[in-house]
Amino acid sequence: MKIGIIGAGAAGLAAALDLSSKGHKVLVYESAPFIGGQASTIPVGGSPLERGYHHLFTNDAAILELMDDIGLGETMKWYPSRVGTYTEGKVYKTTTALDLLRLGAIPFIDRIKLGLFTLKVGRIKDWRTLEGETADYWLSERLGGAAYEKVWAPLLKGKFGRFYNQIGMPWFWGKIQTRLASRQGIRGREVLGYPDGSFDTVFDRLKSVIESEDGKVHISTPVTKVEVVDGVAKALVVKSPDGNEKREEFDCVLSTVPSFSFPDLVDLPEEYKKRLTDVHYLAAVVVVLEMSQPLTSYYWMNIADPEVPFLGLIEHTNMLPKEWYSGNNVLYITNYLDRKDPVYSLSKGELLDLYLPHMKKLNPEFDRSWIKAVHYNSVSAAQPIIPVNYSRAIPDHRTPVERLYLANTTQIYPEDRGTNYSFRMGREMAAMIMDDEQQNWRDWK
Ligand SMILES: Cc1cc2nc3c(=O)[nH]c(=O)nc-3n(C[C@H](O)[C@H](O)[C@H](O)COP(=O)(O)OP(=O)(O)OC[C@H]3O[C@@H](n4cnc5c(N)ncnc54)[C@H](O)[C@@H]3O)c2cc1C
Repeated sequence: MKIGIIGAGAAGLAAALDLSSKGHKVLVYESAPFIGGQASTIPVGGSPLERGYHHLFTNDAAILELMDDIGLGETMKWYPSRVGTYTEGKVYKTTTALDLLRLGAIPFIDRIKLGLFTLKVGRIKDWRTLEGETADYWLSERLGGAAYEKVWAPLLKGKFGRFYNQIGMPWFWGKIQTRLASRQGIRGREVLGYPDGSFDTVFDRLKSVIESEDGKVHISTPVTKVEVVDGVAKALVVKSPDGNEKREEFDCVLSTVPSFSFPDLVDLPEEYKKRLTDVHYLAAVVVVLEMSQPLTSYYWMNIADPEVPFLGLIEHTNMLPKEWYSGNNVLYITNYLDRKDPVYSLSKGELLDLYLPHMKKLNPEFDRSWIKAVHYNSVSAAQPIIPVNYSRAIPDHRTPVERLYLANTTQIYPEDRGTNYSFRMGREMAAMIMDDEQQNWRDWK
């Protein structure tokens, strides 16, 4: 078969790997001038660094398997992380279960309730029993008290804004499962994974394996149209880097673009289109600071305070060696926002003016002169909002157009989106495509 893939992120490249290794001819088109999509990097202090902070959990089995398959298993390293929560004007260590018991911001009885609640959710095996209820309902009604008011409510509202009370409980369940898996016992610290040389190592190796199998990854080449003849996907129209439009025929097409932009590429029946456009995405706005000093001693800092205009701080070099970045401390300031939120349109300088006055809350010594360089990144389709009973609303991978497939982060469920799941989905798509061809595309007939 000759297969066209739209997007050179985790899903597109994982699908391309398996299809090309089975002898199929694969052409991948990527609109950006780089591969890796949301997990791509920029140069910082002489090394690649993800545009948005990235790490892995110990139960991220699919990416570990994929790295083994492409000969990179040895490059995945595990690092102890330190997690803090800023609430009620103070930073609290919240790395281990014992830390939760010492969380002075809430009364002792609420800490016990919080610990027991976390264990209870961690023991639930079947997420389907949770589908009909929201995370906010569970947290407010079944946990309640100060643990909800002071810890979870600000975090939920910070992460999901006006959608905070629409998120299905499987999202919270998935978060607890991954975090418990990455902790070693009640006293145990969390360990998180990061590949030597950044996530670039994985994407670069994928590209070279795909190209060694006679595939091709074209960057700076957006797909502008999926051509459909008699209900069957026939060709892609792409805009080459020289500005010229080109048409290329395929036996089938896999798109990994966000749901809101997929209908711009192809006409789809209303019902399927509604499924796509019903899923709302939050955008991410990420400021990366290179600093002469660390702000705190934590890797991950949840901000559970509505007065602070960002959601979290990730001090990359509190987990990874700062020598990789010319000895500078690397700090991400992150926010998830509606694309209509005015903060989404602020410039880098305006964001700094908004954020920096609050940094002293985390460290009173902080001074603007610590900042040596600033980087700004935004991702429009960063976090899909997954509501209750979503298993009944997920758009099918097989679209209504024969031989046209869709694989994006809105189809990851019940887990939250992440590179691990996009790699897994890409490989599942390759298997589905090869199966469908074997069956002579019977599922569409
Ligand atoms: C701030 C942030 C932090 C994150 N942190 C983590 C983390 O710690 N750990 C983790 O595992 N995951 C994390 N993730 C999530 C992870 O990066 C994504 O889930 C994953 O990379 C998505 O891969 P994908 O291939 O599904 O989509 P994308 O990476 O979005 O790939 C889709 C690609 O399609 C391209 N494209 C779009 N339209 C066209 C077109 N018309 N023609 C050609 N190409 C097109 C895009 O440019 C893009 O490269 C984070 C994400 C963000 C935003």
